[in-house]
Amino acid sequence: MKNCVDLILKWYNEQKRPLPWRRDKDPYHVWISEIMLQQTRIEAVIDYYERFMKRLPTIQDLSEVSEDDLLKLWEGLGYYSRARNLKKAAIKIMNEFDGVFPSNYEDILSLPGIGEYTAGAISSICFDLPEVAIDGNVMRVYCRVENLDLDVGDPKTKKLIGEKIKENIPASSGDFNQGIMELGEVVCIPGGVPKCDICPLKYHCLAHVNNRECLIPRKGNKTKVLEKEYTLFLMKCGDKFAIRKRDNGLLKNMWEFPNQEGFLTYDEVKKIIPGIQSIKLSITNTHVFTHRKWFMNSYLIEVEKEFGDYLWVSIPEIESKYALPTAFMPFFEEIKKDY
Ligand code: SF4
Repeated sequence: MKNCVDLILKWYNEQKRPLPWRRDKDPYHVWISEIMLQQTRIEAVIDYYERFMKRLPTIQDLSEVSEDDLLKLWEGLGYYSRARNLKKAAIKIMNEFDGVFPSNYEDILSLPGIGEYTAGAISSICFDLPEVAIDGNVMRVYCRVENLDLDVGDPKTKKLIGEKIKENIPASSGDFNQGIMELGEVVCIPGGVPKCDICPLKYHCLAHVNNRECLIPRKGNKTKVLEKEYTLFLMKCGDKFAIRKRDNGLLKNMWEFPNQEGFLTYDEVKKIIPGIQSIKLSITNTHVFTHRKWFMNSYLIEVEKEFGDYLWVSIPEIESKYALPTAFMPFFEEIKKDY
């Protein structure tokens, strides 16, 4: 790997993508982009990032934003606890660091929602500290360059690779960390065949030299996915629909359409919902989370009058104020059609 450091830096400085959070080294910009990038592709993050920065241009703005506004900005990105942690961290920065983003690794790591990877990325990119940021891309490139048949799903592998890379981390650590990650994303790609013919490391990469690049890295056993079935009640009264806040479990405190576990029949629904004027089966959707899969059926139900502890709101109100998790968006799109 030692021989590859300068090659990675040179490649990065020539090839790096012009991304909005790379316009400067402001830790607020890098922090928000890094948290967003943990959830989705770079192309998709750009719009979210620009919108977020327009609405909340400073750490103080983030510390003062209402939860509903924050979740609305995050709508579609998933993992809403990450958005809430952003606000908690912004409040901590305002209270404990005089509103200035901390500039040493330990203080950065102490912020809610910031783990070793993000602390390493911010420390190196914004402050050129000799810290590493190890993600799946970095592990793949490292294992291939060194021809190591390690299980990248094992935390010990991550720790080992972090220590090894740190031994050779250059002064421009931020460029190096971003370079090796980007090389993994666009050249030394996961799945399929890496693009060794255009790789700056091709003469030093032991996996490539030994024709083993497609065998590395090894992956451990996949975590079992927990599957659940739900029935959603898309209840309409006049021009209002019932929504409620989830009070526990996955997506806690997010808005959702009322629902019940299991696939319910017409008769079962009629026993639960009072004052039904009409009922029809609506769409189904399957949503896959990291370790869970939800199979969802739904009924479109018109009711005589509003009831229960639900919030009865119009479609434009849901659109402007209440963030629905991605899992429920297809149902929202469906009820919008007849609105
Ligand atoms: S030569 Fe091929 S396998 Fe080796 S680092 Fe480059 S793209 Fe990856």
